[in-house]
Amino acid sequence: MAHHAPTGADSSSAQSGASSSSPRSPKILDGKTLSRAVARTAAARVSEIRAKVGRAPGLAVILVGENPASKTYVASKHRFAKECGLETFDAHLPASVSASDLRKVIEGYNANDAVDGILLQLPLPAPLDGAEFVRLIAPEKDADGLHPANQGLLLQGAPAPRPCTPLGVMVMLDLALSGVEVNDSTTLADIPKASLAGKSAVVIGRSQLVGKPMGFLLLERNATVTFAHSKTSDLPAVCRAADVVVAAVGVPKLVKRDWVKPGAIVLDVGINRMPDGKLCGDVAYDEVAPVASAITPVPGGVGPMTVAMLISNTVENCARRNGITP
Ligand code: NAD
Repeated sequence: MAHHAPTGADSSSAQSGASSSSPRSPKILDGKTLSRAVARTAAARVSEIRAKVGRAPGLAVILVGENPASKTYVASKHRFAKECGLETFDAHLPASVSASDLRKVIEGYNANDAVDGILLQLPLPAPLDGAEFVRLIAPEKDADGLHPANQGLLLQGAPAPRPCTPLGVMVMLDLALSGVEVNDSTTLADIPKASLAGKSAVVIGRSQLVGKPMGFLLLERNATVTFAHSKTSDLPAVCRAADVVVAAVGVPKLVKRDWVKPGAIVLDVGINRMPDGKLCGDVAYDEVAPVASAITPVPGGVGPMTVAMLISNTVENCARRNGITP
């Protein structure tokens, strides 16, 4: 496979003036800092909604069982929601809960007008099937953007909650291409939505949760998108052709330095627990960072943005349900 000339995939690579072969300092896309910008944006929107609707947006969180990772995620979603001024509702059900009791809880939140976002923390303990229960959530109250009706609206490009992880990745991509430095007063309004016209993007992974919706969000911005997956032949060559690489695989350090075109933007969704207990992504960060123009760390990259976009989705669900325009 021939090596490609640098494309100047973003403004930061152009600013750095680095050549295609020399190591450069990539822009580190810090998800924790960027998630604060989402929080400020959401908090301002909550005030606006409160003034118009007479109440704050409500998020209902349903946790089934005692999975420690799920409990941690739920706690951070709660914390974020509270910080942004949302009202929160809680259902912590035992792993032994019956399907009909779980259905009743979801239906109760569907009927409760104070609830705008319903999060059913996945995975559910066996034998409960997560997909089956996600379908019971009222689509307009779907906080995760995973209801089939909302996935259909994504394909149509129509307004609807989008899946949180890919949505967070898009904000990180906007930041990468913006030249904006996030500070204590930055909001999402300061980060222009990037056009990806003329750029190529590869998404590694084709899950319902991340890979597929990710590809469609990139397509909405006019990227030329390739979906790569476990049956793709010569994955390194497919990646090397891309200006934007999104890795959502679940294989530690799969993406190597020579898979990445110099100047490419690398967004790492993977969260892998290593034998020493540390977390790492799907990208071999230390070797890839010097060739990328921008890259997300793991931890502290896409993860915090997923939580932030869940809150943002809930706030926007409330706005949409009350006829408040974006
Ligand atoms: P998944 O297992 O549902 O899908 C993985 C995808 O990777 C599949 O489509 C498969 O075809 C592809 N794949 C597997 N092995 C491959 C290989 N060797 N080469 C190329 N493609 C391969 O996983 P998922 O739910 O999409 O999650 C992917 C990763 O992202 C996991 O590490 C998960 O923990 C993480 N994740 C992170 C967040 C976050 O907030 N940061 C959110 C969701 C998922």
